[in-house]
Amino acid sequence: MIGWLAAAAALAGLGLSARYHWWRPRQPGIPVLMYHQITAELAGTPLPKLRVTPARFAAQLDALARRGYRTLTLSQAAAAIAAGHDHPTVVLTFDDGFLDFYTQAWPLLRARGMTATVFLVTGLIGQENRWDLDKGLPREPLMDAAQIRELAAAGVEFGGHTHSHADLTRLDDAALAAELTQCQATLADLLGAPSPSFSYPFGLHDHRVARAAAAAGFSLACTTRPGLLAPQTDPLAIPRIMIKRSDDPLDFALKLTRARSRW
Ligand SMILES: [Zn+2]
Repeated sequence: MIGWLAAAAALAGLGLSARYHWWRPRQPGIPVLMYHQITAELAGTPLPKLRVTPARFAAQLDALARRGYRTLTLSQAAAAIAAGHDHPTVVLTFDDGFLDFYTQAWPLLRARGMTATVFLVTGLIGQENRWDLDKGLPREPLMDAAQIRELAAAGVEFGGHTHSHADLTRLDDAALAAELTQCQATLADLLGAPSPSFSYPFGLHDHRVARAAAAAGFSLACTTRPGLLAPQTDPLAIPRIMIKRSDDPLDFALKLTRARSRW
């Protein structure tokens, strides 16, 4: 009987270790978390993983607070790394500038004294996610200029995500430069100063794209490759950790320290 119980416990342990990779070593550095939408709504979307529910997002923020993490914007975190920071820190990033950042995410962040970095598709401010529609994703409203300015005044960092959500690796040099300079010019007009922060649409980039982003005045550019922000990180290829709708509290805890909860 004892033998059977021990065998069952060992099997359960193996199963757990296959699902949750707690045994991977912790990595030093600042986790830069990537979100898209904060909404309970799933109607019509073929990509539910990009939508985290408000309840789950609030629980993640509470878990960060319990663990003593402070939230910094991307540019604040880069400065902290350069200064040799020693405080548990996390960066919360949101791609695309969806309206639900304003209506759902921000009230939860503000209530906890937390901040975030939002990457805007500058040619579509106050409009819709036009780039998603040909992929069968539902129409979603994006934040407008007044909402963006209000949140910027409250400490949210806004960065670029190109002017039209183009795959930058497929553009010729002139179109590439135009996507990036129009994006930066719109941000500077909207916020009163250029933004150092950027995220590559679809995470797609190469050396030519990174050079063009830098030439447009972006000094910090995020990818979708998993990892943590550390002193040796290439500032034009900053890794990020995708938080998915299905992530449970153990996934979230593992991602903070190991970049992934499973392979
Ligand atoms: Zn995007």
